[in-house]
Amino acid sequence: MSKTLFSKIIDGEIPGDFVYRDDRIVAIRDIGPKAPTHILIIPVKPLRGVDAASAEDQALLGDLLLVGARLARELGLEEAGYRLVINVGADGGQTVPHLHVHLLGGRALGWPPG
Ligand code: 5GP
Repeated sequence: MSKTLFSKIIDGEIPGDFVYRDDRIVAIRDIGPKAPTHILIIPVKPLRGVDAASAEDQALLGDLLLVGARLARELGLEEAGYRLVINVGADGGQTVPHLHVHLLGGRALGWPPG
């Protein structure tokens, strides 16, 4: 299986602006931000998407959200609010086939999505 874009960033083959890193999860600034704050929270394990996760990934999925909430707090988004989003497949708007959670904030975000 060829390496995903995010695996290349995690491995330092492509530059990334890291805001968090541990042995299982990283967070980087999105290269094309859709909000004043736009961070991608990414598991080191290259799951294709949340649809490819299984019971063994349960703790990892929870930790992705906890890292998102912690970063939102640290970045001062908590009071105004923010959004954590997982896109899945073509209709979901997923363009990179490596599971990631978007953390978006810094402005009022529309709902429902277009
Ligand atoms: P998706 O559309 O799959 O839910 O989200 C993929 C995200 O990755 C997009 O928001 C896109 O801007 C971002 N992205 C694509 N290529 C790169 C890159 O090389 N570096 C970073 N930091 N983000 C990227």
